[in-house]
Amino acid sequence: MLRVFEIKLPLDHSQDDLLRAISDALQVPARELLSWEIRRQAIDARKKTTIRLIYTVDVCLCHEEQVVSKSLANRVIPTPDESYQPAKPGSEMLEHHPVVVGSGPAGLFAGLILSQAGYQPVILERGKAVEERCRDVERFWHEGVLNPESNAQFGEGGAGTFSDGKLSTLINDLRCRKVLEELAMAGAPPAILVSNKPHIGTDQLRRVVRTIRESIIRLGGEVRFLNRVTGLRLRDGRLRGLKINDSFVLDCEAAVFAIGHSSRDTFGMLLKHGLTMIPKPFSVGMRIEHPQLLIDQAQYGAFAGHPRLGQADYKLAYHAPDGRSAYTFCMCPGGKVIAAASELGGIVTNGMRLQARSGPNANAALMVNVGPEDFPDDHPLSGFRFQREWETLAFRVGGATYAAPVQLLDDFLTGRPSSQLGQVKATYRPAVVPADLRNCLPAYVCDTIKHAIPAFARRLKSFDLPDAVLTGVETRSSCPVRLVRGKDFQASISGLYPAGEGGGYAGGIMSSAVDGIKVAEAIISRFSLF
Ligand SMILES: Cc1cc2nc3c(=O)[nH]c(=O)nc-3n(C[C@H](O)[C@H](O)[C@H](O)COP(=O)(O)OP(=O)(O)OC[C@H]3O[C@@H](n4cnc5c(N)ncnc54)[C@H](O)[C@@H]3O)c2cc1C
Repeated sequence: MLRVFEIKLPLDHSQDDLLRAISDALQVPARELLSWEIRRQAIDARKKTTIRLIYTVDVCLCHEEQVVSKSLANRVIPTPDESYQPAKPGSEMLEHHPVVVGSGPAGLFAGLILSQAGYQPVILERGKAVEERCRDVERFWHEGVLNPESNAQFGEGGAGTFSDGKLSTLINDLRCRKVLEELAMAGAPPAILVSNKPHIGTDQLRRVVRTIRESIIRLGGEVRFLNRVTGLRLRDGRLRGLKINDSFVLDCEAAVFAIGHSSRDTFGMLLKHGLTMIPKPFSVGMRIEHPQLLIDQAQYGAFAGHPRLGQADYKLAYHAPDGRSAYTFCMCPGGKVIAAASELGGIVTNGMRLQARSGPNANAALMVNVGPEDFPDDHPLSGFRFQREWETLAFRVGGATYAAPVQLLDDFLTGRPSSQLGQVKATYRPAVVPADLRNCLPAYVCDTIKHAIPAFARRLKSFDLPDAVLTGVETRSSCPVRLVRGKDFQASISGLYPAGEGGGYAGGIMSSAVDGIKVAEAIISRFSLF
């Protein structure tokens, strides 16, 4: 098989056009193509007058050798073997099944790989199974009643479940393909296997997560909900067991800690046990909402609304002279801003959308980098105190009912509190309160965003729409601490394997899942199968 890159076609091309373009690229007649499949599809919208689709295609030919010898300027290569290579079991004896703490992308994929290799892991999740979790989250969004153990951060599927389900990543790792294939096998849309911006949508993610759980159980693993790890049992600096719900101990010698970035009590417990951790930078800011149509027109001009394009997204960055940066993050076309708090008395925003992306608004996080120098003190967990401070202030500014403070973009830029919203309707639930976001975010964050907005509007027309809605506060962009681990993936306590976003080794669904796989491989290569 050969892989052909950079096949560019206009939006309204037919299958025959694609076939012709493949044979042109290979310089062979179309009848020589035995079979072909699209490997990747991307949109090139740099020129709004000639938006094109770019394909990478795998082709089976009668006489591949002849094509390879033509040296077609790196556009054609033999299709690489991208199949997943499982790790080989090691020799150290395990007395108990490996444990995975957390069932977010990192924990689920660590659990799945361990299960597929025959290690029958036990997965412990502090929150509830996805079906019950959905009810708790809906209740929070409709009635403002937050369950601190079952919310947008905690429960089956982790923070990813109530997400946008965007699977794009900056990491370049062959395991990404394994993640996509497992997700597709579990019911995610097959388009994720070819799109350069794969996306599942929260509605489908919920089913996918449940199907992966069922696979783990079918392979002999066990999944326990409402099982919060509250302590460690150690002997000679090595892990011997996990205390659960402050009541009983589960013996184990190897545990993956895939706890995400919001389990603040668990980080406190790990610190008390002497685990080495260091504060790390992250970002805080707000969500911005525009009409989706406006973004489609800004990105696609006259082609806006074309069925092959779908709804447009954007990614913008601005570097201020003082060293701070503002950037957009987790853009959700046709999505909603959601309440993503996990602690009582705090507001946390994030973005989510359904697979169909049918909502009228586009939203994205508008973030500014912060670091340990901004945190209140040198304590390793000081970044959590920093987050909590702004989350609590936002709660108070919103009237202490989980209503989020919102401000019109124009008011934000001119320094006025908002008293009402305009043509763009805020999507955050249970409610929003017009306010001044400067009362619940650091001044340097607001100033950097204020300077960034005109720069963003130069790159994306109408980004500075006066009626655009800003909703605060977005504080959980990534973990403010890193659980230090060595080359063998173990933390300073032997047998404890930090993974994913909470360990500080990933950011987003895909990279967390890949990190979970890597950690599972480390456990497999060390221990023998019992
Ligand atoms: C609303 C929202 C939208 C998002 N959208 C996207 C997106 O579109 N694309 C993207 O790439 N990323 C997105 N993200 C980020 C993404 O969800 C995270 O990067 C990812 O989920 C991190 O995976 P993880 O497995 O490391 O941790 P998590 O997903 O946070 O999972 C950690 C799990 O561990 C459990 N846990 C914690 N402590 C304990 C304990 N002591 N005992 C037992 N269990 C415990 C938690 O309950 C949780 O289920 C979004 C996040 C949110 C909140």
